[in-house]
Amino acid sequence: MRLDPALWAGKPGLSKLLGALDADSGTTRFVGGAVRDWLLGLPVSDIDLATRLKPDAVIAALERAGIRAVPTGLQHGTVTAVSGGVPHEVTTLRRDVATFGRHAEVAFTDDWQEDARRRDFTINALYADPGTGELIDFFGGLDDLKSRRVRFIGAPLERIAEDHLRILRFFRFSARFAPELDAQGLAACAARANDLMALSRERIRDELLKLLALPSPEPTVAAMLAHDILKPVLPEIAASRLPALAALIAAEGAARVAPDGLRRLAALLPESPPLAAEIAARLKLSNAGKGRLVHAAGRPAVPDDPRALAYSIGAEPTLDRLLLTGDPRAAQWAGPLSHYTRPRLPISGKDLIAMGLPPGPAVSRRLAEVEQLWVAAGFPADRNKTMAIAREVLGVR
Ligand code: ATP
Ligand code: MG
Repeated sequence: MRLDPALWAGKPGLSKLLGALDADSGTTRFVGGAVRDWLLGLPVSDIDLATRLKPDAVIAALERAGIRAVPTGLQHGTVTAVSGGVPHEVTTLRRDVATFGRHAEVAFTDDWQEDARRRDFTINALYADPGTGELIDFFGGLDDLKSRRVRFIGAPLERIAEDHLRILRFFRFSARFAPELDAQGLAACAARANDLMALSRERIRDELLKLLALPSPEPTVAAMLAHDILKPVLPEIAASRLPALAALIAAEGAARVAPDGLRRLAALLPESPPLAAEIAARLKLSNAGKGRLVHAAGRPAVPDDPRALAYSIGAEPTLDRLLLTGDPRAAQWAGPLSHYTRPRLPISGKDLIAMGLPPGPAVSRRLAEVEQLWVAAGFPADRNKTMAIAREVLGVR
């Protein structure tokens, strides 16, 4: 079986890169997600290359061709080649020497099959020759792709012992490609769910948010909850929240808002701001991410002009609230909120003092009152209008 080389013929910088690596002589192949997605007829943005050249030879070849080489993961054999302005990961064929569940020691190899064997799922271990489009499939990935099966290469329990992140990857790729979970894979993931605790929170977070951001993750999340996969990491998520996730996904669709993993996580959590803060810390979310979870859990009401809420809690948490409550205004406000910049109160404490307010702590208090009325008045940018509000607050003419 072959892929049509026209699929990548026009990709910027690619033919120069393949020439530099002498791909025509069989040194280098496409691998992983790009091959899988080309076969499925999906758009491909990231193209990963596997090569028999050792990393120093890759770097030398790129330098000779004037292609920038960034040693992004040199000890693991990965060089990022920036060709035509596009980054491509070029990774030397590897085999595992020792695995530790959270990281592995690798050695370089010339053997394509050894490289394939350390990949996670059969559909992720397909190679394609860049010159001819010929497909190389050691583990039945083509069949699995045809029947939409996400299947571990080798024995699932062993593969999970080697790298625990594969538990979450199994569910993520299944949610993306498979109508049903592979029974053997599911059983192994369920048996080893506690292993997730050995992983860094950042890796769990990234993988989970990617899963939640897929077009329809609910059946997969339901299966994960039914099999206690998330219990070791996020015991707070209860199956009773699944309808809230489904409702959010429908609301995002109706409002034509892009899926967002964090907002979907918010839908799955109990309505408790302190708990949301704790979970945000556990998952090492940014301050903005933490704010979104906490505000979503706090359920602030969205006023007639949602910008009034955006002014105090931010535009993203406001859009989250509209979507999480199924508010029909979400479609109308999604655009304005995504371009929202917080307006500035056009007067300051100095103006109040000039109006006769004695300097002191009262100034900021009165200014806050002015600000509240200014927000209620729709944030007039006009200084004179705002001065009029201030005169009213201070009772001066
Ligand atoms: P995506 O479109 O989500 O990026 P992808 O298949 O490119 O899908 P990546 O996470 O980018 O997935 O990984 C690239 C390839 O590296 C995979 O296709 C797989 O072959 C291999 N791989 C990545 N992570 C693992 C892992 N934890 N264990 C085994 N192989 C892995
Ligand atoms: Mg990828």
